[in-house]
Amino acid sequence: MEKYRILRDELVLEGIISSEKLFAADLISKELLILGHDEQYVDDVLNLKLDHSSARKVGLPLTQEMVNRARTSANAFTKAVDASLEDGFSASLAGGTHHAHFNEGEGFCFFNDFAINARRLGLLYPTKKILILDLDVHQGNGNSSILKNDLNTYIVSFHGEKNYPFRKIESHIDISFSEGAQDQEYLTQLEGKLTQLKAKCFDHIFYQAGVDTLKGDRFGSLHLTHDGLMQRDRLVFDFAINQDIPITVAMGGGYHRDITQTVIAYKNIFKVAKSVLG
Ligand SMILES: [Zn+2]
Repeated sequence: MEKYRILRDELVLEGIISSEKLFAADLISKELLILGHDEQYVDDVLNLKLDHSSARKVGLPLTQEMVNRARTSANAFTKAVDASLEDGFSASLAGGTHHAHFNEGEGFCFFNDFAINARRLGLLYPTKKILILDLDVHQGNGNSSILKNDLNTYIVSFHGEKNYPFRKIESHIDISFSEGAQDQEYLTQLEGKLTQLKAKCFDHIFYQAGVDTLKGDRFGSLHLTHDGLMQRDRLVFDFAINQDIPITVAMGGGYHRDITQTVIAYKNIFKVAKSVLG
């Protein structure tokens, strides 16, 4: 949790983001939560009544503080989506909770911010086509389980074959990498897929920019470098800007043995965004 506060402070201190560009999130409403989730599940979480084994699957304590944090994080992504509709680019300084399913949470995720917002945009703009580009090292099983059959959403996941979740849930495109995969292999695959995806003419991108692909991450198995991650982000932001597609970013995972490395990788996302998007 500490990394998020450090990230926010350093982004401002280092002049990567001016403080006027930051806005605070508040609690997402139940009405929005149930766009992506079963109402009984939402009630159980909000009322701290989730049964013990379901709570254990999330891996976080079911306390009021944790639930408020999950709701705030989902609201942050919601506000970021609206800001990117205005400005072309916005990011949540947390989020990317892609392991939460329709009626259960797992993998540190209670609520699925991408699923809620894909459904919300679908209601507001029925013709918009959303690309979910999930480059976290862990497959976005919750995104796939909730959204796979939604016609407005197309899901692409790049992940470590050996990494959690051990039972992947099929996306529209899944690219899995073996242990120790490095920059060149990864970037070649990404460039190829993005070239193919141009033909689909998306109207909005939700980008899960997890940095747990960095070599040395405790929960990842790939060996990407900081430079490789920056090239990754450059490819993604170029893809968005060249087609004039609004992009909303979530930080996703990052659990390096040295927290400084995770924060550097997150900050680099913003540095690259600034250099590409202005
Ligand atoms: Zn992850």
